[in-house]
Amino acid sequence: PPTTSHSKVVLVTGASSGIGEATARRLAASGHRVVLGARRTDRIRAVAEDIRAGGGAADHHELDVTSLESMRSFVREAHDRHGRVDVLVNNAGVMPLSTLDALKVDEWNRMIDVNIRGVLHGIAAVLPLMRDQGAGHIVNVASVSGHRVDPTAAVYSATKFAVRAISEGLRQESRDLRVTVVSPGFTRSELAEGISDTGVREAVQGQMGMAIPASAIGEAIDYAIGQPLEVDVNEIVIRPTVQG
Ligand code: NDP
Repeated sequence: PPTTSHSKVVLVTGASSGIGEATARRLAASGHRVVLGARRTDRIRAVAEDIRAGGGAADHHELDVTSLESMRSFVREAHDRHGRVDVLVNNAGVMPLSTLDALKVDEWNRMIDVNIRGVLHGIAAVLPLMRDQGAGHIVNVASVSGHRVDPTAAVYSATKFAVRAISEGLRQESRDLRVTVVSPGFTRSELAEGISDTGVREAVQGQMGMAIPASAIGEAIDYAIGQPLEVDVNEIVIRPTVQG
Protein backbone atom coordinates (compact mmCIF):
# COMPACT_ATOMS: atom_id res chain seq x y z
CA PRO A 1 0.00 0.00 0.00
CA PRO A 2 1.12 3.58 -0.61
CA THR A 3 2.70 5.29 2.36
CA THR A 4 2.30 8.87 1.24
CA SER A 5 -0.75 10.93 0.42
CA HIS A 6 0.74 12.09 -2.90
CA SER A 7 0.10 11.13 -6.50
CA LYS A 8 -2.79 8.74 -6.19
CA VAL A 9 -4.65 7.19 -9.09
CA VAL A 10 -8.11 8.74 -8.81
CA LEU A 11 -11.13 7.77 -10.92
CA VAL A 12 -13.90 10.36 -11.19
CA THR A 13 -17.35 9.47 -12.54
CA GLY A 14 -19.45 12.21 -14.13
CA ALA A 15 -16.33 14.24 -14.92
CA SER A 16 -17.75 15.92 -18.04
CA SER A 17 -19.20 18.92 -16.19
CA GLY A 18 -19.86 20.59 -12.85
CA ILE A 19 -18.51 19.02 -9.68
CA GLY A 20 -16.86 16.04 -11.38
CA GLU A 21 -14.95 18.20 -13.84
CA ALA A 22 -13.89 20.65 -11.11
CA THR A 23 -12.81 17.76 -8.89
CA ALA A 24 -10.71 16.19 -11.64
CA ARG A 25 -9.03 19.53 -12.33
CA ARG A 26 -8.35 20.16 -8.66
CA LEU A 27 -6.99 16.68 -7.95
CA ALA A 28 -4.72 16.85 -11.01
CA ALA A 29 -3.43 20.21 -9.81
CA SER A 30 -2.62 18.52 -6.49
CA GLY A 31 -0.47 16.00 -8.33
CA HIS A 32 -2.85 13.06 -8.58
CA ARG A 33 -3.29 10.98 -11.74
CA VAL A 34 -6.95 11.36 -12.67
CA VAL A 35 -9.11 9.22 -14.92
CA LEU A 36 -12.27 10.95 -16.11
CA GLY A 37 -15.42 9.00 -16.92
CA ALA A 38 -18.76 10.09 -18.41
CA ARG A 39 -20.98 9.45 -21.43
CA ARG A 40 -20.03 12.70 -23.24
CA THR A 41 -16.58 11.60 -24.35
CA ASP A 42 -15.93 14.81 -26.31
CA ARG A 43 -16.19 16.72 -23.03
CA ILE A 44 -13.99 14.45 -20.91
CA ARG A 45 -11.43 14.22 -23.72
CA ALA A 46 -11.22 18.02 -23.84
CA VAL A 47 -10.93 18.33 -20.04
CA ALA A 48 -8.21 15.65 -19.91
CA GLU A 49 -6.30 17.38 -22.73
CA ASP A 50 -6.58 20.69 -20.92
CA ILE A 51 -5.27 19.13 -17.69
CA ARG A 52 -2.33 17.57 -19.54
CA ALA A 53 -1.61 20.88 -21.30
CA GLY A 54 -1.29 22.41 -17.83
CA GLY A 55 1.22 19.75 -16.77
CA GLY A 56 -1.19 17.40 -14.99
CA ALA A 57 -1.74 13.68 -15.50
CA ALA A 58 -5.17 12.81 -16.88
CA ASP A 59 -6.85 10.38 -19.20
CA HIS A 60 -10.45 9.57 -19.97
CA HIS A 61 -12.71 6.65 -20.71
CA GLU A 62 -16.35 6.46 -21.78
CA LEU A 63 -18.55 5.50 -18.86
CA ASP A 64 -22.24 4.87 -18.26
CA VAL A 65 -22.57 4.21 -14.54
CA THR A 66 -25.95 2.51 -15.01
CA SER A 67 -24.10 -0.39 -16.65
CA LEU A 68 -22.00 -2.61 -14.38
CA GLU A 69 -20.06 -3.78 -17.45
CA SER A 70 -19.26 -0.19 -18.45
CA MET A 71 -18.11 0.57 -14.90
CA ARG A 72 -15.96 -2.56 -14.79
CA SER A 73 -14.34 -1.67 -18.08
CA PHE A 74 -13.67 1.91 -16.85
CA VAL A 75 -11.94 0.55 -13.74
CA ARG A 76 -10.14 -2.25 -15.60
CA GLU A 77 -8.67 0.16 -18.14
CA ALA A 78 -7.45 2.53 -15.42
CA HIS A 79 -5.96 -0.38 -13.48
CA ASP A 80 -4.22 -1.76 -16.58
CA ARG A 81 -2.77 1.65 -17.32
CA HIS A 82 -1.68 2.70 -13.84
CA GLY A 83 -1.27 -0.60 -12.01
CA ARG A 84 -3.55 0.42 -9.16
CA VAL A 85 -6.69 2.35 -8.25
CA ASP A 86 -6.32 4.38 -5.09
CA VAL A 87 -9.54 6.41 -5.11
CA LEU A 88 -12.93 6.19 -6.79
CA VAL A 89 -15.08 9.32 -6.70
CA ASN A 90 -18.68 8.26 -7.36
CA ASN A 91 -19.92 11.66 -8.47
CA ALA A 92 -22.22 11.02 -11.47
CA GLY A 93 -25.80 11.98 -10.67
CA VAL A 94 -29.05 13.32 -12.07
CA MET A 95 -31.76 15.46 -10.47
CA PRO A 96 -34.99 15.65 -12.50
CA LEU A 97 -37.11 17.09 -9.70
CA SER A 98 -40.91 16.95 -9.78
CA THR A 99 -43.83 16.36 -7.45
CA LEU A 100 -44.85 12.74 -6.95
CA ASP A 101 -48.29 13.63 -8.34
CA ALA A 102 -46.68 14.28 -11.73
CA LEU A 103 -45.97 10.53 -11.90
CA LYS A 104 -42.73 10.95 -13.82
CA VAL A 105 -41.95 7.30 -13.16
CA ASP A 106 -39.27 7.09 -15.85
CA GLU A 107 -37.41 9.94 -14.16
CA TRP A 108 -37.74 8.27 -10.73
CA ASN A 109 -36.20 5.15 -12.24
CA ARG A 110 -33.47 7.19 -13.91
CA MET A 111 -32.49 8.73 -10.56
CA ILE A 112 -32.43 5.29 -8.94
CA ASP A 113 -30.37 3.89 -11.83
CA VAL A 114 -27.74 6.66 -11.87
CA ASN A 115 -27.65 7.89 -8.28
CA ILE A 116 -27.99 4.55 -6.44
CA ARG A 117 -27.16 1.76 -8.87
CA GLY A 118 -24.33 3.87 -10.32
CA VAL A 119 -22.70 4.16 -6.89
CA LEU A 120 -23.19 0.44 -6.22
CA HIS A 121 -21.68 -0.42 -9.61
CA GLY A 122 -18.67 1.72 -8.74
CA ILE A 123 -18.26 -0.06 -5.42
CA ALA A 124 -18.66 -3.47 -7.07
CA ALA A 125 -16.04 -2.61 -9.68
CA VAL A 126 -13.32 -1.41 -7.27
CA LEU A 127 -13.93 -3.37 -4.08
CA PRO A 128 -12.15 -6.61 -5.07
CA LEU A 129 -9.05 -4.80 -6.30
CA MET A 130 -8.94 -2.42 -3.34
CA ARG A 131 -9.19 -5.46 -1.01
CA ASP A 132 -6.27 -7.00 -2.95
CA GLN A 133 -4.31 -3.76 -2.60
CA GLY A 134 -5.10 -3.70 1.11
CA ALA A 135 -6.03 -0.03 0.74
CA GLY A 136 -8.33 2.26 -1.15
CA HIS A 137 -10.66 5.22 -0.80
CA ILE A 138 -14.24 5.53 -2.03
CA VAL A 139 -15.71 9.03 -2.13
CA ASN A 140 -19.45 9.21 -2.73
CA VAL A 141 -21.15 12.47 -3.64
CA ALA A 142 -24.49 12.67 -1.84
CA SER A 143 -26.23 16.00 -1.18
CA VAL A 144 -27.77 18.24 1.44
CA SER A 145 -30.85 16.45 0.03
CA GLY A 146 -29.41 13.32 1.63
CA HIS A 147 -30.01 15.00 5.00
CA ARG A 148 -33.40 16.65 4.44
CA VAL A 149 -36.45 16.25 2.23
CA ASP A 150 -38.13 19.07 0.32
CA PRO A 151 -41.18 19.21 -1.98
CA THR A 152 -40.38 17.96 -5.53
CA ALA A 153 -37.28 16.19 -4.17
CA ALA A 154 -38.80 13.05 -2.61
CA VAL A 155 -37.17 10.58 -4.99
CA TYR A 156 -33.94 12.56 -5.42
CA SER A 157 -33.62 12.80 -1.63
CA ALA A 158 -34.35 9.08 -1.32
CA THR A 159 -31.44 8.32 -3.65
CA LYS A 160 -29.10 10.57 -1.69
CA PHE A 161 -30.23 9.14 1.69
CA ALA A 162 -29.41 5.78 0.11
CA VAL A 163 -25.93 6.95 -0.89
CA ARG A 164 -25.26 7.91 2.73
CA ALA A 165 -26.61 4.58 4.02
CA ILE A 166 -24.52 2.58 1.54
CA SER A 167 -21.43 4.61 2.43
CA GLU A 168 -21.89 4.07 6.17
CA GLY A 169 -22.44 0.34 5.65
CA LEU A 170 -19.32 0.12 3.52
CA ARG A 171 -17.33 2.02 6.14
CA GLN A 172 -18.46 -0.29 8.93
CA GLU A 173 -17.50 -3.36 6.93
CA SER A 174 -14.11 -2.00 5.82
CA ARG A 175 -11.10 -1.60 8.06
CA ASP A 176 -8.80 -1.35 5.05
CA LEU A 177 -10.72 1.29 3.09
CA ARG A 178 -11.46 4.93 3.64
CA VAL A 179 -15.02 6.01 2.89
CA THR A 180 -16.03 9.63 2.48
CA VAL A 181 -19.43 11.15 1.74
CA VAL A 182 -19.43 14.67 0.38
CA SER A 183 -22.81 16.39 0.61
CA PRO A 184 -23.00 19.63 -1.35
CA GLY A 185 -25.68 22.28 -1.17
CA PHE A 186 -26.44 24.54 -4.15
CA THR A 187 -23.43 24.32 -6.45
CA ARG A 188 -22.98 25.80 -9.95
CA SER A 189 -23.28 23.04 -12.54
CA GLU A 190 -25.55 21.71 -15.28
CA LEU A 191 -27.63 19.64 -12.82
CA ALA A 192 -30.84 21.72 -12.98
CA GLU A 193 -30.92 21.52 -16.79
CA GLY A 194 -32.21 17.96 -16.43
CA ILE A 195 -35.44 19.07 -14.75
CA SER A 196 -38.24 18.49 -17.27
CA ASP A 197 -40.95 20.37 -15.33
CA THR A 198 -40.53 23.99 -16.47
CA GLY A 199 -41.90 25.54 -13.28
CA VAL A 200 -39.70 23.44 -11.02
CA ARG A 201 -36.66 24.04 -13.25
CA GLU A 202 -37.12 27.80 -13.18
CA ALA A 203 -37.61 27.78 -9.41
CA VAL A 204 -34.43 25.75 -8.89
CA GLN A 205 -32.45 27.84 -11.38
CA GLY A 206 -33.63 30.93 -9.48
CA GLN A 207 -32.23 29.47 -6.25
CA MET A 208 -29.00 28.61 -8.08
CA GLY A 209 -28.22 32.32 -7.86
CA MET A 210 -26.83 31.59 -4.40
CA ALA A 211 -24.77 28.63 -5.61
CA ILE A 212 -21.10 28.18 -4.78
CA PRO A 213 -18.57 27.22 -7.47
CA ALA A 214 -18.02 23.54 -8.19
CA SER A 215 -14.36 24.04 -7.30
CA ALA A 216 -15.43 24.38 -3.65
CA ILE A 217 -16.57 20.77 -3.71
CA GLY A 218 -13.42 19.68 -5.54
CA GLU A 219 -11.39 21.30 -2.80
CA ALA A 220 -13.31 19.39 -0.10
CA ILE A 221 -12.71 16.10 -1.93
CA ASP A 222 -9.01 16.96 -2.34
CA TYR A 223 -8.84 17.59 1.42
CA ALA A 224 -10.35 14.19 2.26
CA ILE A 225 -8.05 12.37 -0.17
CA GLY A 226 -4.98 14.23 1.02
CA GLN A 227 -5.29 13.17 4.66
CA PRO A 228 -2.82 10.60 6.05
CA LEU A 229 -3.98 7.03 5.32
CA GLU A 230 -4.98 6.41 8.94
CA VAL A 231 -7.30 9.43 8.85
CA ASP A 232 -10.72 8.73 7.33
CA VAL A 233 -12.81 11.84 6.73
CA ASN A 234 -16.29 10.33 6.74
CA GLU A 235 -18.57 13.19 5.83
CA ILE A 236 -18.34 16.75 4.64
CA VAL A 237 -21.44 18.92 4.23
CA ILE A 238 -20.66 22.04 2.25
CA ARG A 239 -23.16 24.65 1.14
CA PRO A 240 -23.52 28.34 0.38
CA THR A 241 -23.34 30.44 3.52
CA VAL A 242 -26.70 31.98 2.60
CA GLN A 243 -28.49 28.63 1.98
CA GLY A 244 -31.31 27.90 4.45
P1 NDP B 1 -23.83 18.12 -13.70
O1 NDP B 1 -25.11 17.87 -14.38
O2 NDP B 1 -23.03 19.31 -14.10
O3 NDP B 1 -22.90 16.83 -13.77
C1 NDP B 1 -23.45 15.54 -13.68
C2 NDP B 1 -22.43 14.56 -14.23
O4 NDP B 1 -22.97 13.23 -14.11
C3 NDP B 1 -22.09 14.79 -15.68
O5 NDP B 1 -20.70 14.69 -15.84
C4 NDP B 1 -22.78 13.63 -16.39
O6 NDP B 1 -21.99 13.20 -17.50
C5 NDP B 1 -22.74 12.57 -15.32
N1 NDP B 1 -23.70 11.50 -15.56
C6 NDP B 1 -25.05 11.56 -15.58
N2 NDP B 1 -25.56 10.36 -15.89
C7 NDP B 1 -24.50 9.52 -16.09
C8 NDP B 1 -24.37 8.17 -16.45
N3 NDP B 1 -25.43 7.39 -16.68
N4 NDP B 1 -23.12 7.64 -16.54
C9 NDP B 1 -22.04 8.41 -16.33
N5 NDP B 1 -22.10 9.72 -15.97
C10 NDP B 1 -23.32 10.25 -15.88
O7 NDP B 1 -24.21 18.21 -12.15
P2 NDP B 1 -23.32 18.30 -10.79
O8 NDP B 1 -21.92 18.51 -11.08
O9 NDP B 1 -24.01 19.25 -9.93
O10 NDP B 1 -23.59 16.84 -10.20
C11 NDP B 1 -22.57 16.02 -9.68
C12 NDP B 1 -23.08 15.33 -8.42
O11 NDP B 1 -23.29 16.32 -7.41
C13 NDP B 1 -24.41 14.60 -8.59
O12 NDP B 1 -24.36 13.37 -7.91
C14 NDP B 1 -25.40 15.54 -7.90
O13 NDP B 1 -26.52 14.85 -7.42
C15 NDP B 1 -24.53 16.08 -6.79
N6 NDP B 1 -25.00 17.31 -6.17
C16 NDP B 1 -25.05 18.49 -6.86
C17 NDP B 1 -25.52 19.64 -6.25
C18 NDP B 1 -25.63 20.94 -6.98
O14 NDP B 1 -26.22 21.89 -6.45
N7 NDP B 1 -25.07 21.07 -8.17
C19 NDP B 1 -25.95 19.63 -4.85
C20 NDP B 1 -25.84 18.35 -4.21
C21 NDP B 1 -25.37 17.26 -4.86
P3 NDP B 1 -22.59 12.72 -18.92
O15 NDP B 1 -23.92 13.36 -19.09
O16 NDP B 1 -21.55 13.20 -19.90
O17 NDP B 1 -22.63 11.22 -18.83
